[in-house]
Amino acid sequence: MILRLFILSFFYSCVAMASGHDHVKVGLFSIFHPKRIFIASVGTKTLAVKIKKSRGGKEELNAPEVMVSCSATGGLQVKVGKRTIEGFSVNLVSKRAGKGLLVGVMGKQRARPYKGKLEVHSKDGVCVVTNTVVLEDYVESVSCHEIRGGLSEALKAQAVLVRTWALTHLGRHGADGQDFCDLTHCQVYTGDSACDASQTLALSEVKGMVLMYGSVLSDVAYFSTCGGYTASAADIWGRKSSRSYLKGVMDGDPAYCSESPHFHWHLLLPKADVCRVLAIKGAGSPCTLEVTKTGKGGWVKSVRVISKKNISLTGEEFRMVMGRAFGWGKFKSSNFVMNSRGDEVEFIGKGLGHGVGMCQYGAMNMAKKGKSYKDILRHYFPGTRVLKLNEIRHRK
Ligand SMILES: [Zn+2]
Ligand SMILES: [Zn+2]
Repeated sequence: MILRLFILSFFYSCVAMASGHDHVKVGLFSIFHPKRIFIASVGTKTLAVKIKKSRGGKEELNAPEVMVSCSATGGLQVKVGKRTIEGFSVNLVSKRAGKGLLVGVMGKQRARPYKGKLEVHSKDGVCVVTNTVVLEDYVESVSCHEIRGGLSEALKAQAVLVRTWALTHLGRHGADGQDFCDLTHCQVYTGDSACDASQTLALSEVKGMVLMYGSVLSDVAYFSTCGGYTASAADIWGRKSSRSYLKGVMDGDPAYCSESPHFHWHLLLPKADVCRVLAIKGAGSPCTLEVTKTGKGGWVKSVRVISKKNISLTGEEFRMVMGRAFGWGKFKSSNFVMNSRGDEVEFIGKGLGHGVGMCQYGAMNMAKKGKSYKDILRHYFPGTRVLKLNEIRHRK
């Protein structure tokens, strides 16, 4: 079944690319549940606005900027100058070719530039904002947000992963007519201001490159810091995530990511707070905790919570519950040991993130040591190779 899904998504990707649908639809700002959206054009005052009207028909006009308000009845109001037009949805694009849009939830001041087109409709009183953007522009933005600084080989490795991930997850937010959201749930997308000129130049060298395993796109993942050993996907996400190239690797000796500020972490938490947080999973208070299984490299596979009702969580479930409650920047990974310290629980941990795939701090250090993006990808995903999408198409 998994294999079939893979083949299907790969096939779909190829079909999508081959037929020229090289755009993706990304949902913007859903985290803010916006009720109003400001839109203008970048560097020009000509915004083309197409409104699907509530009473039927369409209205097309040009405007320097618009404010869209979304109402609970499913409609929206488009404010253009002194006019307000009632509609179901609105499409916006810059009139000047190649120029993007400024889009903001807080009004003009904090608006961000986005390439491509924008569509806004209302769902339960919240504006659903969809940016249709060229896949390569999306890849560029996400990659530069993920890898900062002048480490171009690490940035190139990141871009190959961002593109491969995107092509294997198209339609992830299909219910909203979108491929992806702009959050960590999918990949963080902040629009057109993420890269500087040298990063854009570096990324042009890996345009269209994807990571393959045999004849299918690889199942890829990345995260901040492994703490010395990347995790096996099966240990983190269960057996169905098992892949020969995601079994975990030793990240250099000394560890490539040893300069990461997250290489080691330490956290003391009141026991009562931890038990209360775990109630969400069915545990009671008071409780005691024990790590019952640890996988390769120290990544915790299973935690038992002993209370009125005993429960068992995977290490990743435990990280999610703790990260959500105490902060992702505090409870950093599921690679930890636990000690009881009176009324407190002490966590001594390594790394930041889920641990599967490419360790970004490790990749940056590999780049510093002169490794190429292909070396980096081979290291974190052994047995895979980098190919250009159109080469794959020709082989089919
Ligand atoms: Zn998402
Ligand atoms: Zn690492």
